[in-house]
Amino acid sequence: MSSSGHDPKLTPHVALLPSAGMGHLTPFLRLAALLTANDVRVTFITPHPTVSLSESQSLTHLFSSFPQITRKQLRLLPFDDLSANSEDPFYYHFEVIRRSSHLLSPLLTSLSPPLSALVTDMSLASTVIPITDALKLPNYIFFTSSAKMLTLYLSFHVMVPNEMKDFVEISGLEPIPRSWIPPPLLQDTDNLLKMLFHRKWQENDRIKWNSVHAVGPLPPFNLEKSRPLAWLDDQPAQSVLYVSFGSRTAISRDQIRELGDGLVRSSKSFLWVVKDKKVDKDDSSELIDLIGHDLMERIIERGFLVKNWLNQEEVLRHPAVAGFLTHCGWNSITEALWHGVPMLLWPQHGDQKINADLVERIGVGMWAKSWGWGGEAMVVKGEEIAEKVGEMMGNGILRLRAAEVRNDARMAVREGGSSYKRLANLIESWKGLV
Ligand code: UDP
Ligand code: UDP
Repeated sequence: MSSSGHDPKLTPHVALLPSAGMGHLTPFLRLAALLTANDVRVTFITPHPTVSLSESQSLTHLFSSFPQITRKQLRLLPFDDLSANSEDPFYYHFEVIRRSSHLLSPLLTSLSPPLSALVTDMSLASTVIPITDALKLPNYIFFTSSAKMLTLYLSFHVMVPNEMKDFVEISGLEPIPRSWIPPPLLQDTDNLLKMLFHRKWQENDRIKWNSVHAVGPLPPFNLEKSRPLAWLDDQPAQSVLYVSFGSRTAISRDQIRELGDGLVRSSKSFLWVVKDKKVDKDDSSELIDLIGHDLMERIIERGFLVKNWLNQEEVLRHPAVAGFLTHCGWNSITEALWHGVPMLLWPQHGDQKINADLVERIGVGMWAKSWGWGGEAMVVKGEEIAEKVGEMMGNGILRLRAAEVRNDARMAVREGGSSYKRLANLIESWKGLV
């Protein structure tokens, strides 16, 4: 992509500032790898400590795989007063980073050679924009969700939630059912998410949003070859359902058991990542206690359960995998699209209903809307889960469409493709700033 080779005068220097949680870190890891491959000098700023073990492990892998990337730590100040009443350790961490942001300016100005630009996670936008404005440093907000979510986001703060009818109307979008909006944003009372995502953007209303550079999907890269899942290798091609709710969604014990029952009843083989705590460090319960002996005996015949982190990339690309029961995290969705895997969509929180709708519209997934948000009072019954799993896994049209979308995604990032060109233009524009 670059014609400049390694001429240091023409090498832009870009710093990346991710936020908390694997869903926010993963796209930054991919961006760091992609920019490095395109002769951009990258400094990766890591808010420290991280919330989860998987974040610190991924960072270690990044820096050992790419020794040319410079690591800078943003040492976070402790704010115990907040943690007591915070409903979510990851949102709490967004706030801790925000409160430590005065440490950022000296860090940015100390970097050498001087920066061409900073790329900031969306959750830190309102905090970091005034800092980079003062430094006259171009700041690109990396939005780690869909364009539709970005549109909703940019318009949401001008609406008064109480005035909302059953549908939210935003120009340029079809009316969005109120029930799809991230629930904390609709609450009357204050919460961390509202403060960070809603009011703070409102305060920064004067900020101009210049242009959007659609460079995704960011191709996955393998930090290291993880231990191959021998069980998957033993399964016939296109036979296995992969079940995971991402890195930070806990499922209630009752729902875990109904889900297990449903998977067994579906008569499909399945690989299931079982998680009952939001943060991996807190997750010490034994599988057998979560699942129970009776169900475990039924599961063993067809299913393989995992309690720890596995490399989802490797699973989705495996020829045995035919479908994905997903919580609709944006990374999980883009990874499934990248690998052409049809989805059964079960959004749990946040932007995930908006994501589910997009996948259903492009014809690569089925969404059982009556299941609602995860964690709602209702527990979805095993019979119903089995029925939907069967429907999705047996749907040849979904599979064909998934293969087409996979192809489109790869064309976009291939030399000459739309995302390839946009990234090349972006890097060229940074060179003008060197
Ligand atoms: N992931 C993984 N192994 C796991 C759980 C998650 O590799 O056991 C990865 C997954 O591939 C994705 C990210 O972690 O890249 C999760 O991001 P996503 O946006 O899907 O959901 P979140 O975890 O933020 O809810
Ligand atoms: N969010 C939002 N607007 C967006 C994207 C996200 O209000 O455009 C909120 C949403 O409620 C979500 C939270 O920010 O729960 C974090 O986003 P995301 O779900 O991508 O993060 P994760 O759950 O992966 O940490």
